[in-house]
Amino acid sequence: MSKTDATVLTTVMSDPLHERDIAETALELVFQAAGPYLGSLPERKVHDRDADALLEELGGPLPEHGAGTLDSVERLVRVGTGAATHSSGPRFFHLVVGGSTPAALAADWTASLLDQTAGLWASSPFAARAETVALGWLKELFGLPASFGAVLTPSATFAHLTGLACARSWWAEQHGVDVSAQGLAGLPEMPVLSSGLVHVSTRKTLQMLGCGRDTLRTFARDDAGRIDLPAMEAALAALDGPAVIIGNLGEVNTGDSDPIAELADLAERYGAWLHVDGAFGLFAALSPRTAHLARGVERANSITADGHKWLNVPYESGFSFVRDASWMSRAFGAWGAAYLPDAGDGRVNYNMLGPESSRRARALPIWATLRAYGRDGHRAMVERHLDVAGHLGALVERAPDLELLAPVQLCVVCFRYRPPGVPEEELDDLNARLGEALLADGRVYAGTSLYRGMRVFRPAPLNWRTTPGDVELLVTVLRELGAALTGG
Ligand SMILES: *Cc1c(COP(=O)(O)O)cnc(C)c1O
Repeated sequence: MSKTDATVLTTVMSDPLHERDIAETALELVFQAAGPYLGSLPERKVHDRDADALLEELGGPLPEHGAGTLDSVERLVRVGTGAATHSSGPRFFHLVVGGSTPAALAADWTASLLDQTAGLWASSPFAARAETVALGWLKELFGLPASFGAVLTPSATFAHLTGLACARSWWAEQHGVDVSAQGLAGLPEMPVLSSGLVHVSTRKTLQMLGCGRDTLRTFARDDAGRIDLPAMEAALAALDGPAVIIGNLGEVNTGDSDPIAELADLAERYGAWLHVDGAFGLFAALSPRTAHLARGVERANSITADGHKWLNVPYESGFSFVRDASWMSRAFGAWGAAYLPDAGDGRVNYNMLGPESSRRARALPIWATLRAYGRDGHRAMVERHLDVAGHLGALVERAPDLELLAPVQLCVVCFRYRPPGVPEEELDDLNARLGEALLADGRVYAGTSLYRGMRVFRPAPLNWRTTPGDVELLVTVLRELGAALTGG
């Protein structure tokens, strides 16, 4: 082979157009790893710090000549299945994280296979139809009127962005301003009221919308942030113009909720916009045991929820519901068209109803999981998690060195390590160190948070694979590591 031929060969080898079409073989590499990987999840550590050495294999300079498809996919799968945080397994209780049901996972692969441009009906009637059906099913699942507008988003934060952009347009219109065209200049501050249960993502959204994250006023009657309704009502009565109320359905430290129906009453009485953050709490509507927590949510003007939490579909998945769908096209229809989202013929352009333009067909995993398991299956999953959380709460109450800090109402258990004889002022530091030791150990994951000024654990079992044994292991490991830290 001449030198020129060799150069040509290396060059074409790394161009996907000239490489043999080996997509099928590359997918086989992923598929062959998938079964053993999923099978290992119930037993393996959530994170093995020894495996972090594999991360070196991701690095190096940008290859001048490509290493080829199979070599690269093989490396990614090997490094990933070894060094990833195995948060889709049953013992990842850090933050509020769900899993992926088998149907959702397979449908997510399908979404990549088909690679749809899912914002415009014209570019994918299939994706648009799947989204319309999935959103309709979600409304049925949560008991929301079919007349609500809806759109899929990448996350709850983007669902806030959708709902609160609608609220902002509604509010500005009452001041005679089309905020989509003219912006916020000249307008007063938009009043936003909530309880102390409000999530940071709501403030972040206000920050992104140009309303300012510090403009949010909270009305709390105690240091747990529970709502002071009379104080909120007095503030509403004292306002000249319209306001936005944020209701919180499922707070991340304890699972506590605002009384949504009473907030809906206030919103009606004072002509306010009610936005409900039900990122995971909206799933309370699925079980008769918790449905009272979600009572009144169907009266909200906008609602946020996540798919990648309690629905158990893969990242990224959120949904926004808006009572008056026309606000969605007014806030996001960039060309000012008087575009009706439910215009009978089903030709919905979802990128005019939410913040994204190009987007993937994230309806597919939602469609698949709802079709595969139905209302019953998802209710059973929610109830199993309620049971597992209740079981964890009971274990914590029974343990002499653990202290339950809030009643278990939903799927979050708030507690701290409190061995006898350790003075109060040392507990925050002890729990912070225990939190670090737990993550370093890796068998079970749970993070710490601040609740009523205390360093606490607040595990949230939301993964369909989680069993009572997994939260029993959390208690065992925490007590074992805690005893080691205190020399017990
Ligand atoms: C997780 C969560 C959010 C933010 O959700 P993302 O999907 O991460 O954007 C907002 N509110 C509550 C109550 C949450 O639990």
